[in-house]
Amino acid sequence: MEDIIIVGAGIGGLTLALALHHEGIPVRVFEAAPEIKPIGVGINILPHATRELARLGLEGELARVAVATREALFFNRFGQLIYREPLGRDAGYAWPQFSIHRGDLQQALLAALVQRNGAERVITGWQCTGCEQDHSGVTVRFLSAETGASLATRGRALVACDGLHSTIRKQLHPTEGEPRYSGVNMWRGVTRWPPILSGAAMIRAGWLARGKMVIYPIRDHVDGEARQLVNWVAEIETPRHRARDWNRPGAIDDFIGAFEDWHFDWLDVPSFIRAADAILEFPMIDQDPLPWWSDERITLLGDAAHPMVPRGSNGAGQAILDARALADCLVAHDDAADAFKAYEAKRLEPTANVVRMSRTNPPDAILREVYRRTGDRPFARIEDVISNAELAALSDSYKRVAGYDRESMQGGAR
Ligand SMILES: Cc1cc2nc3c(=O)[nH]c(=O)nc-3n(C[C@H](O)[C@H](O)[C@H](O)COP(=O)(O)OP(=O)(O)OC[C@H]3O[C@@H](n4cnc5c(N)ncnc54)[C@H](O)[C@@H]3O)c2cc1C
Repeated sequence: MEDIIIVGAGIGGLTLALALHHEGIPVRVFEAAPEIKPIGVGINILPHATRELARLGLEGELARVAVATREALFFNRFGQLIYREPLGRDAGYAWPQFSIHRGDLQQALLAALVQRNGAERVITGWQCTGCEQDHSGVTVRFLSAETGASLATRGRALVACDGLHSTIRKQLHPTEGEPRYSGVNMWRGVTRWPPILSGAAMIRAGWLARGKMVIYPIRDHVDGEARQLVNWVAEIETPRHRARDWNRPGAIDDFIGAFEDWHFDWLDVPSFIRAADAILEFPMIDQDPLPWWSDERITLLGDAAHPMVPRGSNGAGQAILDARALADCLVAHDDAADAFKAYEAKRLEPTANVVRMSRTNPPDAILREVYRRTGDRPFARIEDVISNAELAALSDSYKRVAGYDRESMQGGAR
């Protein structure tokens, strides 16, 4: 059988390669970067995505390098607790929620793939420039950034997992236009810090209009003093933003002002930010959902198919779910074009809903609601502002759309 060609060795491409290899379907992965280096900061894998990675035999390795996050905590900008809920196994799921350095996740996927499928099947340093197809397969074209050489390879079909600025997405939808800026700019970093609260909490605090923080640990015991590597994101509504570049350094003076008076008994936020290893700046962007992803033997997966704003910890997870669905469809259909049609029918609408929900009512809608109701002032008792049932309903509605409420994860609850 001819190979399925995967373009992009990010989270989606590597998971798909592992899933296809597991099903006995031959693959080759092409990656633009000359070397797969641990770039990025924190990422979350929610229980529905952990389930898929566990099926690929990766749960043990992830548990070794990640933090199993046990609770979500929501605070206002005065450090007052609004809402607390358990996560992962503590919430009754059969699979944990992992908070992990994106590089650690990518390296774990890559190591498993190389070990199972051979290093020669992950080909780095080739940037895809386009593709053509005919009745029997696809021809995919690449350029080497290092030497300027070009390469064309044949495969049975092509899955574009080449992320937000996907070349193949542009080829399939040439008039779509650039990603849409959400009006929120982000500064991200990691800080080595003693465990904050339980040391396994995903903390969201403040609100976008004045400045919001997301803070969660992604590695345990990074030194002899039992400190953790703690991921943080500062998010502020502002028209100021620049094109997304995963390596763009951020300047602390551009955002620290919003958090200068965040001195809480559970964390001194300005000191924590100032102790960061490095700071990156990203605009919060997404794209409107596409009407279709698959053109016969070519399809899209992950951010190439449905980039979303990172407010629901779902970008990596939805790419992982895509990979599982696509592998199932390729097992069920001999013809790749039929498989891609079935995959699109299964995944396009659910992911479009996550894109929309991440814009309008992600989990931090809780913070927006309290910000509005209190007029951005401290409260005496949270019960007088909003009931626990309302807070739980806001949180649960996102889980349902994103597909990880316990009811829809059949067999997911213990
Ligand atoms: C360098 C980098 C750092 C990131 N850091 C974070 C982070 O800190 N936090 C977070 O939440 N999300 C981060 N993301 C995004 C996150 O990985 C995705 O939102 C999510 O995991 C979905 O994965 P994906 O596989 O669809 O896309 P990605 O993980 O973005 O992977 C796309 C892959 O395709 C490769 N590629 C792109 N164009 C081509 C081409 N023309 N030819 C060949 N290969 C190509 C890229 O180099 C990359 O390896 C990062 C992405 C990248 C590429």
